[in-house]
Amino acid sequence: MDVKTAAELDEKYIAKTYGRFDLAPERGSGAEIFDSDGKRYIDCGSGIAVNLFGICDEKWKEAVKGQIDKIQHISNLYYSEPQIRLARMLCEKTGASEVFFGNSGAEANECAIKAARKYGSAAGRYEIITLKNSFHGRTMATITATGQEEFHEYFGPFLEGFRYADPTPDSVAKCVTDKTCAIMIETVQCEGGVIDLDEDFLKWLDAFCQETGILLIVDEVQTGNGRTGYLYSYAEFGLRPDIVTTAKGIGGGLPLGVCMFFERCAGVLTAGTHGSTFGGNAVACAGACSIVERLTGDFLAEVRGKAAYFRANLSRIKKVKRVTGRGLVIGLDCDNGKSPKEMADACLEKGLLVLTAHDKVRLLPPLTIKKEEIDEACKILEEVIDI
Ligand SMILES: *Cc1c(COP(=O)(O)O)cnc(C)c1O
Repeated sequence: MDVKTAAELDEKYIAKTYGRFDLAPERGSGAEIFDSDGKRYIDCGSGIAVNLFGICDEKWKEAVKGQIDKIQHISNLYYSEPQIRLARMLCEKTGASEVFFGNSGAEANECAIKAARKYGSAAGRYEIITLKNSFHGRTMATITATGQEEFHEYFGPFLEGFRYADPTPDSVAKCVTDKTCAIMIETVQCEGGVIDLDEDFLKWLDAFCQETGILLIVDEVQTGNGRTGYLYSYAEFGLRPDIVTTAKGIGGGLPLGVCMFFERCAGVLTAGTHGSTFGGNAVACAGACSIVERLTGDFLAEVRGKAAYFRANLSRIKKVKRVTGRGLVIGLDCDNGKSPKEMADACLEKGLLVLTAHDKVRLLPPLTIKKEEIDEACKILEEVIDI
């Protein structure tokens, strides 16, 4: 469908919750996307960190098709071999005790919030501290957890029991009460503007949670699954989370959310306390297995190398003040008087898909992006940013 027709029909039939770019992607391969006119784009968005191994990755397609030929959906009333395979792989790779499967990041975080409250319920602890500028999803509980006013307008009253801290020891400590059950963070606030949390703060938080018995929840919906060059980003700092959530890239392009429970939280959710009809869909899990099994030490080292190369080249662009984020979560803080949206539109025009996050241009390329494609992307970004 050409973009003009698409824009007209979209406007007519689809609720206007999204600001869309002027593009209707039709097909692709790896980090290349084509529209219906055959125009080529380099993809540095991955459908917001979703198409982890690029578009139409062969191994992922094979796994998905193989499962579709057997059975497309198994209700959670029965045992599911693809779920078991994926859960076992995740537990063995991370040291988690058990996992719950949902369909999205918001659902993974809902599950984490419920589990933290159930864990604290016997002691009357239900408060969860999240950080200002965080993003945890769009459901009522997860927008409440999200520490950004702009998401709260219109939708109150909110869930009780959330407190928002600055990412400093003082501010977190001030939010703690005898009702606190958990502290929930992202290591990089991606939607919040690709802001890295300070390493010393993360380490302090880890020690604080160990000391006080408050649960540490790390939201790895965007940073997880190899994107920062680590299987999950908390590993870079040696954090010991009790709950880790992920989604986006883990399904390789199909909807899947995961809430991983570590030792202290194992067994907290019991029969009947949580569930999801589609959660851990067989096709999504089969595809995810083909993704997670390739996130090996060697592969992650390659991602770190690629990220270092990409970042070094971006930091050479004259009007790039700062390159933020970690690994292949990249934020560009530019000093050229242009808004991130203006720059993203100009990139699109020149055949490069990028995203924005508050005051930054945001890049989330597939982890399999090639060196030549990184070079091409940097060349377009330089033209757009410096001119
Ligand atoms: C995208 C995102 C979510 C929400 O995920 P959905 O799949 O859109 O529900 C939650 N947390 C973080 C950090 C995210 O980036």
